[in-house]
Amino acid sequence: MIDSRDVNELHPALKRGAAELMSRMKRKGYDVIVTSSYRDNESQNALYEQGRTKPGSIVTNARGGESVHNYRLAFDIAKNIKGQEYSDANFFITAGNIWREMGGEWGGDWVSFPDKPHMQYTGGLSIANLKAGSKLANDARMPWESVKEENKLKIVYRGKTYIVHAFLISDYYHVRLREFAEIFGAKAEYIEKDGSVILTD
Ligand SMILES: [Zn+2]
Repeated sequence: MIDSRDVNELHPALKRGAAELMSRMKRKGYDVIVTSSYRDNESQNALYEQGRTKPGSIVTNARGGESVHNYRLAFDIAKNIKGQEYSDANFFITAGNIWREMGGEWGGDWVSFPDKPHMQYTGGLSIANLKAGSKLANDARMPWESVKEENKLKIVYRGKTYIVHAFLISDYYHVRLREFAEIFGAKAEYIEKDGSVILTD
């Protein structure tokens, strides 16, 4: 029986996604722990019995093979403060918003059985697809990291042309702030501890 909370058990795209979610949450002052990652079918069946034939409350409607956890494409989170793991509604709403922005699916958005700690990404595959053997490609990337191409972008400022690196992500060009600041003769410095950038002339 495998019922893991190790992110290394996740599909690589989910593992990177979990790390990104945790770092974005950290910047908002939230410390995240992963409470569940991969669960094999046997563990899923045991969890299904909770609140049915075994004590506890019902936590899932999924039997073995019917949960995205069984395919390494989901993980659950909690707030990393003892005694406050599930009591802060804002924590889960913030995490859900970030995960949705990153292109993932948040269990808190489900109408019939909302599951706020639950984050998943299947690349559009349904449980039926997964059960039938379809797999998310090993080199698949979530939308937030799907950099389509790196380009050189020409920026003209006061008649002078500058070339900067540009990355096309989710249909928008992103440029490096440091390079962009240099056009204006400014310097950009990232301050790790509070996640801010200081611009100086
Ligand atoms: Zn879950």
